[in-house]
Amino acid sequence: MSYTFPVETSARHVHLTAEDFATLFGADAQLTVKKELSIKGQFASNEKITVVGPKSQTTMSILGPFRSKSQVEVSATDARSLGLKAPVRLSGDLAGSAPCKLVGPAGEVELNEGVIVAKRHLHISAAEAEKANVANGEVIMVKISSADRSLIFDDVEVRIGEGCDATMHVDTDESNAAGCTPASVGELIKK
Ligand SMILES: [Zn+2]
Repeated sequence: MSYTFPVETSARHVHLTAEDFATLFGADAQLTVKKELSIKGQFASNEKITVVGPKSQTTMSILGPFRSKSQVEVSATDARSLGLKAPVRLSGDLAGSAPCKLVGPAGEVELNEGVIVAKRHLHISAAEAEKANVANGEVIMVKISSADRSLIFDDVEVRIGEGCDATMHVDTDESNAAGCTPASVGELIKK
């Protein structure tokens, strides 16, 4: 029996520490909710900042809540246009990742590291993982069916957590490569 789930596309975005946010927006500024995301407690904010690389700069949305380390998630295409060598990493795994400068309305922050290309992954609850017969950290393949560009992705990491229903996250390069739409569904393929 096949196990299927929605596929969501994450566009480039930034996570900030409270301290970096205060530097960028001012001590009294608030990060305000624009839209709740599918992972419980996470939200897209109304605030944006500019991410500056050696070759170009681009405006990005800030996702809340605040984190313990600031992090910039880009596609490989974004990284190339910014002039950054961003490694493929799971969120939060930032050691040795690419540097950049963040510019906000009230100040600037130099990040020595923090720019990554997010590794594609499947969010799944412990109960659903049991049904799907997958373990945390397991690497699976996922088939995404679309009109003209159906694609099987390898190297999809399983991330067990209780924050959301089973959902695969891909970046904009992966989404375009597979012809994803907001209705796209992935099918688990065990290796
Ligand atoms: Zn995710």
